[in-house]
Amino acid sequence: MGNLRFQALKEALNRQPVPVSEAPRRSEIFGKNVFNEMAMRQYLTKSSYRSLMDAIDKGSKISRDVADHISTGMKEWAIAKGATHYTHWFQPLTGSSAEKHDAFFDVEMGDAAIEKFGGGQLVQQEPDASSFPNGGIRNTFEARGYTAWDPTSPAFILGTTLCIPTIFVSYTGEALDFKTPLLRSLQVLDHSATEVARYFDKKVNKVITTLGWEQEYFLIDASLANSRPDIMQAGRTLLGHSAAKGQQLDDHYFGAIPSRVLDYMRDLENECMLLGIPVKTRHNEVAPSQFELAPIFEEANLAVDHNQLLMDVMEKVAEKHKLKVLFHEKPFAGVNGSGKHNNWSLCTSTGVNLLSPGSTPMKNLQFLTFFVNTIKAVNDNEELLRSVIATASNDHRLGANEAPPAIISVFIGSQLTNVLDELEKVTDGKLSPQEKTELKLNVVGKIPEILLDNTDRNRTSPFAFTGNKFEFRAVGSTANCAKPMTLLNMIVAKQLKEFKLQVDSLIKDQKLKKDDAVFNVLREYIRDSKRIRFEGDGYGEAWEKEAKKRKLSNNKTTPEALKIQMHPNTIKLYEEMGVMNKIELEARHAINLEEYSKHIQIEGRVLGDIARNHVIPTAIRYQNILIKNVKGLKEIYGDSFKNYGQEQLNIIEQISHHIEQINSGITAMIDQRKKANKLEDLEKRAEAYCFEVKPFFEKIRYHCDKLELLVDDEIWTLTKYREMLLIH
Ligand code: ADP
Ligand code: MG
Repeated sequence: MGNLRFQALKEALNRQPVPVSEAPRRSEIFGKNVFNEMAMRQYLTKSSYRSLMDAIDKGSKISRDVADHISTGMKEWAIAKGATHYTHWFQPLTGSSAEKHDAFFDVEMGDAAIEKFGGGQLVQQEPDASSFPNGGIRNTFEARGYTAWDPTSPAFILGTTLCIPTIFVSYTGEALDFKTPLLRSLQVLDHSATEVARYFDKKVNKVITTLGWEQEYFLIDASLANSRPDIMQAGRTLLGHSAAKGQQLDDHYFGAIPSRVLDYMRDLENECMLLGIPVKTRHNEVAPSQFELAPIFEEANLAVDHNQLLMDVMEKVAEKHKLKVLFHEKPFAGVNGSGKHNNWSLCTSTGVNLLSPGSTPMKNLQFLTFFVNTIKAVNDNEELLRSVIATASNDHRLGANEAPPAIISVFIGSQLTNVLDELEKVTDGKLSPQEKTELKLNVVGKIPEILLDNTDRNRTSPFAFTGNKFEFRAVGSTANCAKPMTLLNMIVAKQLKEFKLQVDSLIKDQKLKKDDAVFNVLREYIRDSKRIRFEGDGYGEAWEKEAKKRKLSNNKTTPEALKIQMHPNTIKLYEEMGVMNKIELEARHAINLEEYSKHIQIEGRVLGDIARNHVIPTAIRYQNILIKNVKGLKEIYGDSFKNYGQEQLNIIEQISHHIEQINSGITAMIDQRKKANKLEDLEKRAEAYCFEVKPFFEKIRYHCDKLELLVDDEIWTLTKYREMLLIH
């Protein structure tokens, strides 16, 4: 049989390793293609360099003259490295990054050809914004969009193009991208956190947010991937029977990395080094063909850009190695899905990690302050946190009996639980000297020690404290980290602002000492946010029941999860914090809903196509073989043919039954799709796709997968799970 599956298998099995050349020392090539401080010093005048550094550190404005200088320096640096083009590089709401290349090359009036790149081109550009999702903002305001340089994220060279990280906003100022609200959230968090950090150290004048993401992904042979219409179009398999050997032996996790994959990783890491992405850890994940890559954490805006860039680079390098990266949260049923843990913390201008306990009781009180305030912020906004990670693909993890659940809770470990239990008993009002000594010595003072052996890790928690940072684990592997980070920054900023007001008022009105006031406010927060803390098994049914009692949300699907985005309190919160206004929120809400419906629509179409055009014809072909066989038996044995052909007859009937179920399922699904498409209201349409269309997927799949088990392997056209997952 010359079908695509066997051709792909042949190609996959005959792969030759792609040679990889690695630099002997990574430190030597790190950031070579980045316009970093070293390059700036070399290519900029002292005063331009200083203006740029001020813009980065203090957010000061860059004058047009200086921009002209900087662009010239940048151009010279880029050309010296072989770049011929430049582009504004931004993150529109499509979820991938966008670029439009322009050549440096220009012809002046007359005939002189030159290389040109002015300050104007560096600072602002006007891409044709009409084809990017805008949720109606442009229609409402007839506004064009423009991109504007973000000097806090350094320019870099990708291939032969100088890429300049930018924000993307409409002419009326509304954000059309992920970066703009992120930058706003970082600013408000800096402000609130600095104020609070100054209770403990007056030298602090800035607080930055740090982010270390962990990127999970599947990597399979490109020919095998391309032989599957569902992977090509939907990024995941819509049918396929589980391989006999999946992850049940636990032999993949942290196992030896297959050599072809290792070559890919080495090549990828080399590229990352050149681009200044500080990748550090690589290993196998739980499912076969699943892997993870993690960097050293960085300032959050830079880390977000680096993750976005990494995802692009991963795809490019995979092409070279004839592999295909699957970022989808659930490419294969029956084995683990992929997430993107967001490790988050705060760091002061004096270099102190505010979520890391220190050596003195005062430093530990500072740690506790940020620790408890974060928990309180999560408690008060748990449903919102769920909503910002809601997508059709992440729904396969959250709320589908897989890590982590759709219920947001915080895990802190038993030792810190004991500390919070003690703090909850703190006296109301002024603390006695004995109580304070006792607290400082035996509760707060002991934190660093107890954290040293903080070995209890809970893998089922969606939001866990892991020693010196919080880890938001419910984020999906396809996500742009900016989305969850923007919300987390904003709610913590709001919480810290409130904390400051409360502590100040206790100091002023009740004449409490500063640390007495801090203890008092923290005690109340610990009490108020108890329901969010959960140390048990997050996957269990018992937790669902318990969470319901605690009035925690449990929105298992995206349409349900997104609802809170439009709640008046949500809009008030975003507006009050200056992170997004109502127009921006409404636009994003519309985009999220539309994206959801389109996603399910595409999956439905692809499923209908492969079930009808691959599975059913193959099943009929096999059925015909059986029919011929039975006819032959009848010819030989006459009336007693059933003694020899009964099982064949059974299979013939089973095949007919499955075909009937598949075909009628598809017809009914198409009917529901038509109905859904007629709904004008985006929310109603998304709900229709979720509750009326999607349920057919399982049913159709079930019967297709049964046929896969019945039909002769030789004629089955769709590449099987065992082939995709176990061949590298
Ligand atoms: P894990 O056991 O969860 O893999 P690691 O210590 O390996 O924990 O860290 C995972 C990620 O957390 C890495 O990307 C790391 O850089 C990041 N990380 C460590 N400390 C911080 C911090 N202070 N802020 C943000 N991210 C951090
Ligand atoms: Mg982790």
